[in-house]
Amino acid sequence: MNNANDASYAHLLAPLDLGFTTLRNRVIMGSMHTGLEDRFYHYPKLAAYFRERARGGVGLIVTGGISPSREGWLLPFGGTMNSLFDIPNHRKVTRAVHEEGSKIVMQILHSGRYGYQPFVVSASAIKSPISKFKPRALDEAGIRRTIADYVRSAKLAQKAGYDGVEIMGSEGYLLNQFLCARTNLRQDQWGGSIENRMRLAVEIVQQVRAAVGTNFIIMYRHSLLDLVEGGNTWDDVVAVAKALEQAGATILNTGIGWHEARVPTIVTSVPRAAFRSLAGRLRKEVSIPVVASNRINMPAEANDIISSGDADLVSMARPFLADPEFVNKVAQGRVDEINTCIACNQACLDHTFANKRASCLVNPRAAHETELVYRKVVRQKRIAIVGAGPAGLSAATVAAERGHAVTLFDASDRIGGQFNYAMRIPGKEEFAETLRYFRRRLDVLGVNVQLNHRVTREALLAQGFDEVIVATGVVPRTPPIEGIDHPKVLSYLDVLKHDVAVGARVAIIGAGGIGFDIGEFLLHDPKVALPMALSHWLAEWGVNLASSSNGGLCAPVPEAPLRKIYLLQRKASKPGAGLGKTSGWVHRATLLRKGVEMLAGVEYRRIDDAGLHITVNGEQRLLEVDHVIICAGQDALTELMSAQPAADGPRFHLIGGAALAAELDAKRAIRQGAELAAML
Ligand code: FAD
Ligand code: NAP
Ligand code: SF4
Repeated sequence: MNNANDASYAHLLAPLDLGFTTLRNRVIMGSMHTGLEDRFYHYPKLAAYFRERARGGVGLIVTGGISPSREGWLLPFGGTMNSLFDIPNHRKVTRAVHEEGSKIVMQILHSGRYGYQPFVVSASAIKSPISKFKPRALDEAGIRRTIADYVRSAKLAQKAGYDGVEIMGSEGYLLNQFLCARTNLRQDQWGGSIENRMRLAVEIVQQVRAAVGTNFIIMYRHSLLDLVEGGNTWDDVVAVAKALEQAGATILNTGIGWHEARVPTIVTSVPRAAFRSLAGRLRKEVSIPVVASNRINMPAEANDIISSGDADLVSMARPFLADPEFVNKVAQGRVDEINTCIACNQACLDHTFANKRASCLVNPRAAHETELVYRKVVRQKRIAIVGAGPAGLSAATVAAERGHAVTLFDASDRIGGQFNYAMRIPGKEEFAETLRYFRRRLDVLGVNVQLNHRVTREALLAQGFDEVIVATGVVPRTPPIEGIDHPKVLSYLDVLKHDVAVGARVAIIGAGGIGFDIGEFLLHDPKVALPMALSHWLAEWGVNLASSSNGGLCAPVPEAPLRKIYLLQRKASKPGAGLGKTSGWVHRATLLRKGVEMLAGVEYRRIDDAGLHITVNGEQRLLEVDHVIICAGQDALTELMSAQPAADGPRFHLIGGAALAAELDAKRAIRQGAELAAML
């Protein structure tokens, strides 16, 4: 057992008595939009998804956002609770959760001006930067109707068997829009002073409480730090919290940052539990339980948040996509078996914003519980898997979980493939947790792991395997540029694997994910310890946790850049356009702040002692650099597939980068490994 397993998580696992009901522990699965809640025919899948999380031991589940009306839709025909006809669908969900001993509240989310549909309304008619639809300002009758919509929705939720509702008041949605001068320019009783701006939220809580009685949870998600110009001060935040308590809220959940904020709040480079101190300050101001949220993904931090008095409950959302059994593993002393959310957003939020069903990069079963099923096998097979990168690890663990006898080979002295390089990038330290998870899983499942073992096709054929899965990944591409053999040319592997010293002036060829990552790696001062300390991160992004004004924003104080970097691509499009929808802007902003010159539409002419010669916008330029680092994509490594299969030999399967290097990412690699192993 390691230290993580030995530690006590008594505070996290302690029940919480709310007077009329008791939560079995302090862990809340926060609200996430999966896409399943938007269509009635997906509710059996939604019920299966929540059932797994409830069976995994979580204390309280919050559903994805459900609109109280058509005006409140996030997307056209999004999930709505406004009629008796909605109840049978939701009963499938509440029954499943209650059968597994957990509690569930339905989140009522009115998107206000964030709605991506033509009926949008807000406090004032001010368009948001993230939706093309300009809202209509609600008039007095419209506000009264909106309050009634919330009340009806909460009463219907009660009828459907929910233990309560969460009223979404943060992240820049409708109630947050009324709360802040940024979006509320009204001069009637709903605008102006903070007392007026909070009136809508407070009346909603009062009237919902009056309608549902005392024995029903009303959790209000309150924005503690808006992180936008014109956001609230800390005094405003406290005044609203006190009024919500008075109005009848049972629990105060917390949120950080509007969706349009230009400060990241949940991506992997945000320090763990960065905002817990704010929950701690709020807790001293109110007497109802307070929830800490945002970038909490490990049980040790979660437990410490409770034991230190920063919060009564901890909300984790994405960690429950990554591992539905999170709480049971904590309770059973199996913390090192938790599949940790690495905060990449690649399969969850990026999917949501692309209007696709959410899932999880490290757990492709998330929100696909009825479709990707790991059945126990009737006949055990001998399976060889070549390559212990994400694709091979995923295939090996799923095949072994199902009961096959699995041998996993890798030429390297460690598992993980390219993830070993990804986790060296500043802000991507979490990727190491995925390798810790897989290492432990291989151990628990008894997979025969053969490291330092470069496999040949002949050796595989000689060992009598039934199936061979080739997951050998990729090799970096070497572009045909004159002077590519010059000593100043390095590949990204020279930098991340072989630690070759890099000069003060650098050109990076290729502005894809790896080009950006190499940029971040080379800008980081190796004397500064990673992961980045919170104080450092707050200064870099200009965040004032004291939040005396302007939603917590202050002038950023970025560290001086360590190098002069040029980041180049041939395409004319904006460099970084292909990065993740919800994280790409963070990488771009980080590099731009450090003075990285990004050039698109580049033609590479030659590399010589003077540097890199390019043509850009018809002009010839010489970039006088010490090193040129090649991040120009990769080619599949398929050497094991080159010969014809022997008639009576094993079946060969190709997955991950070895199958297709173009647009490869770990999401595809892990999903392909799991899907193939689920079928063998
Ligand atoms: P690989 O990870 O390449 O693994 C292949 C393995 O096969 C290697 O361990 C290799 O040693 C082994 N092997 C090869 N030939 C043999 C043989 N003959 N015998 C035995 N073993 C063999 N993806 C994301 O989704 N998100 C990110 O943020 C991200 N960041 C990245 C950052 C960096 C710096 C890098 C380099 C990559 C990043 N990636 C990211 C890409 C991601 O790591 C890859 O998509 C993923 O690793 C591909 O998995 P794979 O299993 O197909 O191949
Ligand atoms: P990539 O994203 O496909 O980028 C390759 C870059 O090289 C592009 O900028 C491309 O732009 C350039 N290029 C391609 N062929 C070239 C050639 N012959 N000569 C010169 N330039 C060439 O690949 P990657 O950066 O190697 O990343 C691999 C995968 O890892 C990606 O698919 C990505 O999904 C994943 N990854 C993701 C993240 C993340 O943050 N989510 C981070 C790292 C990696 P031009 O063709 O325009 O020049
Ligand atoms: Fe976490 Fe990434 Fe999975 Fe989303 S996709 S839940 S951020 S690991």
